[in-house]
Order: sequence, then C-alpha cells, then structure tokens
Amino acid sequence: MNFYVMTLFPDMIISGLNTSITGRAIDKGIISLNAVNIRDFTIDRHNHVDDYPYGGGAGMVMQAQPVYDCYKYIENKIKKKPRVIFMTPAGKTFNQEMAVNLAQEENIVFLCGHYEGIDERVLEMIVTDNVSIGDYVLTGGELPAMVMIDAISRNVKGVLNNEESAVTESFYQNLLEYPQYTRPETFMDKKVPEVLLSGHHANIERWRRNQSLLKTYNVRPDLFERAKLDKKDIKFLREQGIKINDK
Ligand code: SAM
Repeated sequence: MNFYVMTLFPDMIISGLNTSITGRAIDKGIISLNAVNIRDFTIDRHNHVDDYPYGGGAGMVMQAQPVYDCYKYIENKIKKKPRVIFMTPAGKTFNQEMAVNLAQEENIVFLCGHYEGIDERVLEMIVTDNVSIGDYVLTGGELPAMVMIDAISRNVKGVLNNEESAVTESFYQNLLEYPQYTRPETFMDKKVPEVLLSGHHANIERWRRNQSLLKTYNVRPDLFERAKLDKKDIKFLREQGIKINDK
C-alpha cells in the first residue's frame, strides 16, 4: 500500500511515521510513505505558495497552481487516478470503519492544508474525500494525515504481527477494549483481577467481554447502541440492571 502526502512540511510526516510499527512496516516494504513538498512545484520566483484571500479576511490561502502540479506529479507516478483525501475540519469525521475500508486501497493521496486553507478551485478538481479528525481546528493537515496513515496501516495485512492483532482492540464490533494488566500481581495494594490468574481461558474470555460491554455502555453509549450483542451478553447486562431490548 502506498501513501502519498502533499504537504509544505514533508519532514514532519517522515519523522512522525518512521518509528515504531509504521516505521517497521515501511522498512519491510509493506507500506510506502512518500511526502511530496508542494513548494517544489511553485512557479513563483520567490517560492511563494500562498496569497491573500479574495474578498478580504484574515490569513493567507494556499494557491491552486502548486497544489495542482504537485497532484499531477503524483498521478503520473501512479499512472491512475488515486483516492485524494483532503484533511479539513469541514470533512466527514474519521473513524475505525473508514480506516478498515481505506486499508483496501492500493494508493492513497493526502492533501494537507495550512494557513486559512486551499483555493477551492483546485479542491474541486482533485479531491475525492473530505475528512476531519475531530471537531477542533489544527494548524495544518499534517497531524491529521499522520493520524489517518497510522490507523489505516494497522489494518493492512502484515503490518501488525500476531501479538498486536487489531481484532481485540477498541471499536472492533463497536465495543471498547477491556482493561489490561501486567506484572506485578500486586501494585500498591491493588491486585490483578483473580480470573486473569486462573488460566481458565473460557472464563477469561467471558470476563473480558463483560468488561468491554460495561465500559462501552458507560463511556460511549452512542457506540454501545450499535454493538452486536449475543444472548450471553444480554443476560449479563440484565444482571447488571441494564435494560436491553431484544431485537
Ligand atoms: N479555515 C479553515 C476552516 O475554518 O475550516 C481552517 C484552516 S486550518 C488553520 C489549516 C489546515 O489544517 C486545514 O486546511 C486542514 O488541512 C488542517 N486541519 C485543521 N483542523 C483539522 C481537522 N480537525 N481535521 C483535519 N484537518 C484539519
């Protein structure tokens, strides 16, 4: 899977993703990361890539020409029209389902805005998806693109090894993950739950599932509404005094 990032700050992208699990996946060639500097494509003799907004107002706007030429350079390299994701607070909010779906693509291009944003005309010409990482405004699209690349990569085959499987993690089946513990057994008088020391796999699985259900119910009722519950789940939740409608 190949990630291309159109940015004014390529070093930020490379240094942010070249470590840990994504760095290992890049080294192994499972994913590739190409940060392309939009400034390299400006035809302005002072190397400018931004200008004042028409109609007035605060800040600067990134110009269409360098962004368009940068995109064309990538499109020529790929030799087909890729998915182009513009990072914008005005986009659809990124979530795990989108990460899983996007992991099926062969090439994804991210476009990172800076300053007040990018000239609308080039966005209309090249962008296929507008995506936000949350309801707040950041300085640039670089951190959002890195967030997406990290989350998507975890769902690309071979990126996680077995011990790091994405299957039991939060958001799988619309449930949050159960609590985790490691050695020592007692930390400042706080003991690890007894069941986890029992070696009884079925009981451990049930306990973990129950913890996931309770955590999701308490912390993310919106997610819990979409969780797929089986008979054992419903029985447990009712025992906890939680009202569940049989569907
Ligand atoms: N004027 C823009 C607006 O109000 O929608 C905000 C511009 S912001 C200062 C600069 C750039 O940061 C944006 O073009 C976008 O690429 C990126 N950005 C900021 N917040 C973001 C978010 N929540 N999700 C994705 N990208 C974001």
